[in-house]
Amino acid sequence: MPVLGCFLAAAVLVPASASAAPGSSDFAPCASPVVALDPGHNPVKIDSFDPVTGAAQIDYPNGAEDGNVFAVAQRVAATLRGRGYRVVLLKTSVRESVSYRGRVTRAERAGAALGVSIHTSPGVNAVFPQRVGLYRSGAGPDGKPRRIVFTNAATAAASERYAQAMAAARSRAEGHRVAVRKNNFGGRAPLWAGNIPIISLLATNTPWAYNEFGPAGGAGGSIPVGPAALAAYARGISDGVVAALPRRCG
Ligand SMILES: [Zn+2]
Repeated sequence: MPVLGCFLAAAVLVPASASAAPGSSDFAPCASPVVALDPGHNPVKIDSFDPVTGAAQIDYPNGAEDGNVFAVAQRVAATLRGRGYRVVLLKTSVRESVSYRGRVTRAERAGAALGVSIHTSPGVNAVFPQRVGLYRSGAGPDGKPRRIVFTNAATAAASERYAQAMAAARSRAEGHRVAVRKNNFGGRAPLWAGNIPIISLLATNTPWAYNEFGPAGGAGGSIPVGPAALAAYARGISDGVVAALPRRCG
């Protein structure tokens, strides 16, 4: 009732030509998309098979990267919550162990409109989208060759849009070009070969943007990234989410 009362008062007080009108966005609630943030590597080695697809889900701690990307995720979460987004962290502390499937399940249960993986790697400035036909292949649980292909066209189309928005925002914030491209896992055994991160491959129904950041000077991965560069990375990701998923009001 306070909203209605407010509008009636305005209707009485302003001239007929004023822009205030019933249904104005000033009075309407805004949609609050759920964004799932995935802060990089696992604190202990995981070497298992995804129970749904049979894909090898291998993850491992990576030194300074673990704390660096968790700090970035916390900063992004605070920024987005301040702007009215709902945020779920897929790893709730640096020390929490959660498999790729566990993270995807958390994103799905939260109803995430977008999953954002946050990594650092020396010299790599990219956003990896989901695309139809991207794959991973290797020996399955039974030891036989297995190939898992990404096939959800609707998820892929959204992922591509969001990745482009994220890369553009990151390019501005970080001051270098951030590319949207497929990955390359060739020659990285025991990781399966292929061209899409495992977490993005498992997130069949959740658009995903997987980020790598490597500022000038060679930092990233196990080499610590400085606070100013991490702040720029966080700003780019936050701006990218807002550009990808603008809050709709009215
Ligand atoms: Zn990483």
